[in-house]
Amino acid sequence: MDAAFFAGWLRRAAELIEADSERLTRLDAAIGDGDHGLNLNRGFSAAVAALPALPDDTVPGKVLIAAGRAIVSKTGGASGPLYGGALRAAGKALGDAPDVDEAALGAALRAALDGIQGLGQAAMGDKTMVDALAPAVDAYEQALRRHGDPAACAEAAAEAAAHGAVATVPLQARKGRASYLGTRSIGHEDPGAASTVLLMRALADAAA
Ligand code: ADP
Ligand code: MG
Ligand code: MG
Repeated sequence: MDAAFFAGWLRRAAELIEADSERLTRLDAAIGDGDHGLNLNRGFSAAVAALPALPDDTVPGKVLIAAGRAIVSKTGGASGPLYGGALRAAGKALGDAPDVDEAALGAALRAALDGIQGLGQAAMGDKTMVDALAPAVDAYEQALRRHGDPAACAEAAAEAAAHGAVATVPLQARKGRASYLGTRSIGHEDPGAASTVLLMRALADAAA
């Protein structure tokens, strides 16, 4: 997977976020402040807009770092630093390789999750994006151990993220704005978990 693959992932992510922006905002209106779709739309548009400025011989790691930087600078709310930082961590993990294999991508996804947890201190079950991303990374690594190709690994990640997001519905939020609601956060899907599903779906689409 080369720099063009990663640019394609980001463009697909921006498309899926734009298409689902109202749903993300509606989920956030129920247990937060109703801006998650708006925040991510702005952030991922900025990430895509930053791509043409990269040199033609850029590498995958630089694509993700540039996207992460754009997201951090353009996205309000908790999700900007978390997703932006995650992409930067993933980009750093890829280093200067011009082409990365499925194992390197798996390590980058693990670094993204570690970045989010390092910054936000959310554990599995706290009703955040971690509840979708952690099972996605686990499923990716499991598929890798079964010698799955990038498409199979990414598809496994996307499916696990979707299950993880649905599993946030009965949980009480322990991190982020939704935690201020206490037990009233129960019964709604976490918006950040829902957007992580879109990012993993975009990866599976790019790898298919
Ligand atoms: P804000 O809540 O600041 O308006 P967003 O609405 O863009 O930001 O993003 C909210 C999402 O961010 C939540 O649904 C949750 O998934 C995620 N989030 C919030 N705090 C944390 C945290 N500490 N760790 C991981 N994810 C978090
Ligand atoms: Mg919000
Ligand atoms: Mg906000």
